[in-house]
Amino acid sequence: MTRTVVVTGGGTGIGYAVASAFAAQGAHVFITGRRESVLSEARSRLGDGVSTVVCDATDPDQIEALRDQLPTTVDVLVNNAGGNRDLDGGPGGPGPGGPQLGAVGLSGQGPRTPDNLHALAAGWRANLEGNLVSAVLMTAALDKQLAPGGAVVHVGSFAADRGAGSYGAAKAGLNSWNLFLARQLGARDITSNVVSPGYIADTEFFRDRNGQQFHDARVAETMNGRAGYPEDIAGAVVFLASPAARHITGQVLNVNGGALTTR
Ligand code: NDP
Repeated sequence: MTRTVVVTGGGTGIGYAVASAFAAQGAHVFITGRRESVLSEARSRLGDGVSTVVCDATDPDQIEALRDQLPTTVDVLVNNAGGNRDLDGGPGGPGPGGPQLGAVGLSGQGPRTPDNLHALAAGWRANLEGNLVSAVLMTAALDKQLAPGGAVVHVGSFAADRGAGSYGAAKAGLNSWNLFLARQLGARDITSNVVSPGYIADTEFFRDRNGQQFHDARVAETMNGRAGYPEDIAGAVVFLASPAARHITGQVLNVNGGALTTR
């Protein structure tokens, strides 16, 4: 039977690799994101088994509209959408242009003294909404459509264990909420797990930071001396959504080359 899979943020990076892996198994994959052009381009590369829906995962109205476009049964939900607004330069979306939140401190970057509480609040809200509330809203919206035997997989981050300000706190919150969700969904034979990547090269996430020096420093933190790639995360997500993982729930699966989580 053809499985229905929803991947938020499926137009780029890790989400794209996840969508590609499920599509290769013959699933009908719905990819979402905020940029229609990115989704269209991804769909043209992924092929006919993939549908696109523009949807901001932090917006309840857009999520309700997405739900209405999905089949009555969803087998797998991958809450992958996210990012670090401290790196993006502001809560206004990808790329520079917003206030430099990192510069106000206590958000994970920059000096420790916040001199602009409005910017600090905006940064925290953006990262909590973009990485935690988005997953909560998506899962709540699709809850009744999730099929018994299905799976919810969240893409977390090793930042949760590295003291990484608002972004790390949001991903740590995801790990914590995953336990609650696993208990809730368990009664219906649906699993909930987090795949927690270390540094993953070749995505939009680090954008300008993807220079050789930055890359080499991240690789040096691993035990196996290599960077992670989106396909490494996709493999773990597909596994956790497979019958082989039916008894795995409420877990955080680190996929980080053994990178030390306390740095
Ligand atoms: P990308 O920036 O390539 O992927 C993020 C995707 O999410 C984009 O397609 C983006 O599309 C989408 N997105 C962001 N915000 C929203 C939103 N509010 N609603 C809908 N879609 C959204 O980077 P990655 O592939 O690296 O990141 C994927 C996940 O992996 C994230 O959750 C990130 O935190 C996590 N991660 C990444 C690591 C890395 O080293 N790359 C390390 C650890 C975790 P659009 O802008 O069009 O909406």
